[in-house]
Amino acid sequence: MADCIFCKIVKGEIPCHKVYEDDSVLAFLDIAPCSKGHTVVIPKQHGETVFEFSRNANGHLMGAAIDVMKILKEKVKCQGFNVGWNHGKAGGQAVSHVHVHVIPRYEGDQGGSMHSIVTSSKEGDVDEVAALL
Ligand code: AMP
Ligand code: ZN
Repeated sequence: MADCIFCKIVKGEIPCHKVYEDDSVLAFLDIAPCSKGHTVVIPKQHGETVFEFSRNANGHLMGAAIDVMKILKEKVKCQGFNVGWNHGKAGGQAVSHVHVHVIPRYEGDQGGSMHSIVTSSKEGDVDEVAALL
């Protein structure tokens, strides 16, 4: 997509610090890292969300993200990770090209867990949702 910043990185029009690359996936250091080694893993093909990709393509993207974790564990010597993606505007997605954040974690780094992303759940939510399933 012509005006997509991540497509421009894929095409080499904008530079990046490459962490991993294969035929369909590119991973590079985030320009505004949450922690040392924060990397984004993207499909080379443009798509706004994972819903636009096949199960196979998404599986490959997740496999590449796990390879990136292994690279970072060795290179930056982190002790843990948070891995995931901001999906949609409500989920905090700013760049409209699928990207998995691989965020290294270090003992004592004062960061939180997935439960610190949002805390809007109310009493009764579990039963209400369970009834919908
Ligand atoms: P999100 O909020 O999930 O859409 O995240 C977009 C991420 O892309 C942010 O963490 C940005 O810091 C990162 N980002 C934006 N532009 C660049 C760039 N040119 N090179 C590397 N990372 C970028
Ligand atoms: Zn794009």
